[in-house]
Amino acid sequence: MTDPTTSNSVYASMPKVELHRHLEGSLRLDTMLDIAREFGLTIPASLHRLSGLVQVQEQDPLTFQNFLAKFNTLRLFYRSPEIIRRVTREAIEDAARDNVRYMELRFTPVALGRAESYPLREVMDWVCASAAQAAADFGIQINLIVSVNRHESVELAEQVADLAVQHREQGVVGMDLAGNEAEFSTPGNGQARRMCARPSR
Ligand SMILES: [Zn+2]
Repeated sequence: MTDPTTSNSVYASMPKVELHRHLEGSLRLDTMLDIAREFGLTIPASLHRLSGLVQVQEQDPLTFQNFLAKFNTLRLFYRSPEIIRRVTREAIEDAARDNVRYMELRFTPVALGRAESYPLREVMDWVCASAAQAAADFGIQINLIVSVNRHESVELAEQVADLAVQHREQGVVGMDLAGNEAEFSTPGNGQARRMCARPSR
């Protein structure tokens, strides 16, 4: 039988392509504790207990609902433009450390902007600029995919789609309908899909 430690290091050293990583699911636990201290957020002070709130645990029910519930805690942390830039940079640094050479990083401007009511355009500018800088610094190729959650309104999805198209030159290559697909089907976002398909606007 293969020694799992050996096989892990073999996989770690392989150059990789990652096509589906969500920025909001890639925060470092240490960074969350930093932000919680700085902004007085009430979260568990131990990494172990915090991990239970934001990462799927072995004893958790293996359901999509449980997975999505982790984002209820994760969305508390976006309290300043610096934090949004920092978590973007760290997600890319972590991928580069895993020897990922090309990554499509998804992010949800509505989720990142909601805690402080930041304009979506500014949120996208911060993520795009930080991602470009981190890609250059860590030697990894990054493209961005803008997510909108299925439970949001069609109007909001259209607004995000419009901004995604306007950020093509800043690394945005696509749009993702994310979130609870069991309860929210796709048809309501048909207009947003059509907007993304248009060559320019
Ligand atoms: Zn996803």
